[in-house]
Amino acid sequence: MKRRNFISAIGTAALAAPVFGPLSSYATGSAKFNGHEFPDLGYDFNALEPYIDAQTMELHYTKHHQGYYNNFMKAAKDSKLAETPMEEIFKSISKESETIRNNGGGYYNHSLFWENMTPSQQQIPGDLRKAIEKDFGSVDKFKEEFSTASKTRFGSGWGWFALGSNGKLFVTSTPNQDNPLMDVADERGTPLLGLDVWEHAYYLKYQNKRAEYVDNFWNLIDWNVVNNRLKQANTVK
Ligand code: MN
Repeated sequence: MKRRNFISAIGTAALAAPVFGPLSSYATGSAKFNGHEFPDLGYDFNALEPYIDAQTMELHYTKHHQGYYNNFMKAAKDSKLAETPMEEIFKSISKESETIRNNGGGYYNHSLFWENMTPSQQQIPGDLRKAIEKDFGSVDKFKEEFSTASKTRFGSGWGWFALGSNGKLFVTSTPNQDNPLMDVADERGTPLLGLDVWEHAYYLKYQNKRAEYVDNFWNLIDWNVVNNRLKQANTVK
């Protein structure tokens, strides 16, 4: 199903003033910031089958993600937050309301998540592979660490692969809709890869088997996006 075909399906009420737009230019910072946009999914709901089923994708994108976005926009309107890039807001998120923290995080995290998955299997680009091997020893060790962090995060949250301000790559997890850009995070850095481990992300297909969902995630990663995020993060330091 193409983007324009399901806009009518999710109803005009869900689509306030901002329109759908490509995420990549926003997330990579390559375009001038011009407000908060609900991003294009970039592929069909069934594109990630059999690892993520179409029904989960549709509900996750049109209900959960759209809900976080709408609630964030409602809370941010009439304040400077409406014009402030999310990365800036997260730097002092401890001073904002729970509504901004939870829904702003939910809006941003899912935008990264959709973009760092692809229906087409990919190899890890050479320079990214080298960077991973340098900081984790091997790609397998990195994957194991990321998988463990994602599987063992208690309750709802996210698994992350990120670049720290010291230039080192690391793996972490966050509760709820927090992320490593937030000043409340245990380990702070620029997110390169995120995995949603809320039950709504996998329960229809995997029920209680979160580990199976996490293991299958490795079939879906857009390593070029991860590599581009790393390059971008390195240049803005
Ligand atoms: Mn989610």
